[in-house]
Amino acid sequence: MKLKRVEKTLAGWGLTLSRQQLQKLDRLIFILAQQGFPHSSIAHAEEAEIKHVIDSLACMRIWTPPPHASLLDVGSGSGFPGLVLNVAWPTTRVTLLDAVGKKIDHLRDISRALELDDVSTVHARAEDLGRESSYRESFDAVTARAVATTAVLAELCLPLVRLGGVWLLMKGPSGPQELDEARGVLATLGGQVEDDMCFDLPCEQGVRYLARIRKVDHTPTRYPRRAGKPQKRPLELP
Ligand code: SAM
Repeated sequence: MKLKRVEKTLAGWGLTLSRQQLQKLDRLIFILAQQGFPHSSIAHAEEAEIKHVIDSLACMRIWTPPPHASLLDVGSGSGFPGLVLNVAWPTTRVTLLDAVGKKIDHLRDISRALELDDVSTVHARAEDLGRESSYRESFDAVTARAVATTAVLAELCLPLVRLGGVWLLMKGPSGPQELDEARGVLATLGGQVEDDMCFDLPCEQGVRYLARIRKVDHTPTRYPRRAGKPQKRPLELP
């Protein structure tokens, strides 16, 4: 059994995963390593263990899903944090969303290889999904890692969170300042910061910031704006 570092880091956070869950995560890293870690700058398995798996599992520190929750991972890329969270929270239905079709095909292949239950994939832009009635305000939780600045992410993610659900913000050291600058945007879109924390990844692999943002109000129907607009003209609201 590998992934000793994952086990040790989780223990330091007062969390555990079963042997079977750790084995699945180990297999995920093995598969991605065989493929040369596509769509990322990760060079070797140890780096992936820390920057992909441990970083994704850190979401467990800030939110515990209710049984049979639904989670949307916006801009999932190679499946982080969405795939890892499906392993960690096996009764949570995870939807992996990406704007690039090839990434969605890859995610489908990996989910099949790992025999993950309750994982589905959607090839679309978050802005478009957020305007579709079957997805809008429907998820218990939304995640997005390394996709955009916090103000832009708020417009991509919050419209998709159900009232009472959460958006889990995953950032690096710029997190607190980005969140501070996006407070007006958050309030307008119906979000409220409930908890946050900074932590160090093991082996000095960087500082990370997590925030749990509760959906306390409906998002006004004019948001999200049409695809591409949130990135081109990020909202600036007092
Ligand atoms: N979340 C993964 C991670 O942390 O390893 C991937 C991060 S990658 C830098 C950003 C991903 O977001 C890309 O796969 C890109 O196609 C996707 N993306 C960017 N904007 C998007 C949007 N508006 N809707 C859906 N996916 C988007």
